[in-house]
Amino acid sequence: MTRVAFIGLGNMGGGMAARQATAQNAVQAYDLSKTALDRAAAAGCTVAGSAGEAVKDAEVVVTMLPAGQHVRGVYADEVFPHAPKGALLIDCSTIDVESARAVGKDAAAAGFRFADAPVSGGTAAAEAGTLTFMVGCEEADFPAIEAALAPMARAIVRAGEVGAGQAAKICNNMLLGVSMLGVAEAFNLAEALGLDAQRFFDISSKASGQCWSMTSYCPVPGPVPAAPSNRGFEGGFAVAMMLKDLKLAQDAAAKAGASTPMGAQAEALYALFDRLGYGSRDFSAVIRMLAGDLRSLG
Ligand code: NAD
Repeated sequence: MTRVAFIGLGNMGGGMAARQATAQNAVQAYDLSKTALDRAAAAGCTVAGSAGEAVKDAEVVVTMLPAGQHVRGVYADEVFPHAPKGALLIDCSTIDVESARAVGKDAAAAGFRFADAPVSGGTAAAEAGTLTFMVGCEEADFPAIEAALAPMARAIVRAGEVGAGQAAKICNNMLLGVSMLGVAEAFNLAEALGLDAQRFFDISSKASGQCWSMTSYCPVPGPVPAAPSNRGFEGGFAVAMMLKDLKLAQDAAAKAGASTPMGAQAEALYALFDRLGYGSRDFSAVIRMLAGDLRSLG
């Protein structure tokens, strides 16, 4: 049994904290939201009165927060002053590389081991314990981090030093945003040319156009029954979340001086889709915007 402090019990963190409790770990949970705390208590976690209280006896601290400023604030104000020095600190939020590195630097200065470990997989994977973790940490710390993440994971990959997990996450999601737009455009052209969507899928999924956005998440209903396109684009990976990751990628690209014109175009298109009021729909619904057919989304 490991003493785990879990801070940030939202859509993702709620399911992840529950997996830690199911693994028989003693979980001290904290969130600003009463609803989130009630859900964590029902899942077998002990509710703490503050983040500082949650971490005070922890062997492992896991955070799952909205953005960089929340992570910086929680670590500076609550975790560093209150956690025992031997505690292993793991931030699973998706945040900017700069914030991850800054928190990692402060953690090291305060004598803590720290990892950024953002995840791939949505709320269903969080609840099922089948997330993929991309870890940025010192090589020597990785075995302990792997053991701590295991109850929540299907795969745990070390990307490099602190910050490398966030770098891997935003590069992956920039590619996902770009590839979904490409697949959507191809299906729209196929339709305009009178080519049956299933026939096009059967061919392209075995030809050089094959990619995850097509074969696991097809934006037209039919070929991939589990894809959100079969249920009115509800649930899945929200447009607003995709936009957040594309913005992080563009910010990082500007700071690093990298040229990412396709990522920039993807950010612009998802920003437009979000502005049109579709931020909560699955990101593959962008196929309808590209087709000029927003009315079919309701
Ligand atoms: P969420 O908004 O549902 O949850 C965030 C939680 O953090 C909220 O419950 C909020 O009350 C809590 N919080 C904020 N500030 C706090 C503080 N100071 N102290 C304690 N609690 C605080 O967000 P989410 O969907 O769970 O996403 C969390 C992170 O995971 C984000 O960085 C997101 O980008 C990333 N992510 C989300 C998904 C997804 O599908 N939802 C997938 C992969 C990664």
